[in-house]
Amino acid sequence: MLADKDRIFTNLYGRGDWGLKGAMARGAWDGTAKIIARGRDAIIDEMKASGLRGRGGAGFPTGLKWSFMPKEIGERPHYLVVNADESEPGTCKDRDIMRHDPHLLIEGCLIAGFAMGAHAGYIYVRGEFIRERERLQAAIDQAYEAGLLGKNAAKSGWDFDLYVHHGAGAYICGEETALLESLEGKKGMPRMKPPFPANMGLYGCPTTVNNVESIAVAPDILRRGASWFSGLGKPGNTGTKLFCISGHVERPCTVEEEMGIPLRELLEKHCGGVRGGWKNLLAVIPGGSSVPCLPADVCGDLPMDFDTLRNLKSGLGTAAVIVMDKSTDIVRAIARISYFYKHESCGQCTPCREGTGWMWRVVDRMARGEAHKREIDMLLEVSHQVEGHTICALGDAAAWPIQGLIRHFRPEIERRIDSYTANAGAAPLAAAE
Ligand code: SF4
Repeated sequence: MLADKDRIFTNLYGRGDWGLKGAMARGAWDGTAKIIARGRDAIIDEMKASGLRGRGGAGFPTGLKWSFMPKEIGERPHYLVVNADESEPGTCKDRDIMRHDPHLLIEGCLIAGFAMGAHAGYIYVRGEFIRERERLQAAIDQAYEAGLLGKNAAKSGWDFDLYVHHGAGAYICGEETALLESLEGKKGMPRMKPPFPANMGLYGCPTTVNNVESIAVAPDILRRGASWFSGLGKPGNTGTKLFCISGHVERPCTVEEEMGIPLRELLEKHCGGVRGGWKNLLAVIPGGSSVPCLPADVCGDLPMDFDTLRNLKSGLGTAAVIVMDKSTDIVRAIARISYFYKHESCGQCTPCREGTGWMWRVVDRMARGEAHKREIDMLLEVSHQVEGHTICALGDAAAWPIQGLIRHFRPEIERRIDSYTANAGAAPLAAAE
């Protein structure tokens, strides 16, 4: 279990003062100018050495991402963009940072902005996050007033302006290039890559898009040192992580823990365990609704880290753990997730636009048993044709939950089909043919 001294988010539950005074008392904005005085390369090297992997879901090394920005600032300005469009079902960590510890994020923006040569940063906040946007803006106003943003920000010699942009509530704007389109005032539709944002991002200029948590942990890493951060967790999966646990546990919560904590320990120490006891667990979605579910029998000692979960054909994603006990209708639950991705598809590429709706209609029938058994393999096949064949990862996000369902709960789908057939006679099956 993570020791209190190693926590970065010490006001995660909003029990203390969110404002500048409270944040400074907790250690924020301490020695920011000194960190910046180390220079761009030293900051990026330290971030690389910390082993921090992006906390937005993909797990790409943050320091490496920063290093992709051009070394020299040419005619085009550089931009930092923070993705606060937290919309993945089950995920509720970035909103707590914005509500209760916004100065960690703001300080992180200044340091990250400097490290990538950006004089301006934009925080793109999810449309539904009204209070979070207000709180963030209030904290930014405090920072300007105290000279921590703007000209010679925090007396560092670096000029840095930070803007909050409020989205309109489309899930797809959490995809980094759709976010940039939306920020530019266009429809939030993902761009083809390459070119990547580090080369051609916001307004065609070099841009890095980072998750809120990735930026908010940067100042502490640089203050305490890369070796402190990399000493937590395990190689390749270092540091602390915010886990958001929802569903059938006694006390759903968001909690900061060490990367790689076993799932059962996470649930029992922080959430009062699975409702009705561990034996009542049916399955877990370990990283937000887009990652494949895992059945109870692999969940006990399961280390919650990027690599272990990927090897199990699931993923850590945003570390949004959705717990389902045996009262769950798992096929129905996945059908509901499937509907979400169908609804949120931007529609510009065919496998996603057509495939998400097709997959939802089939899995929705399966939830009622109104299907033929041969359709299970057909559904799996179609999911593989959507996966990896689209402009952005929404196609994968729609395919993976269905693949997880079939991989682990095929007998349950078959049982429903048998039961429906037995009750309804042969006629509906013939209709399904
Ligand atoms: Fe749009 Fe879906 Fe294609 Fe992404 S995968 S660009 S959401 S149609």
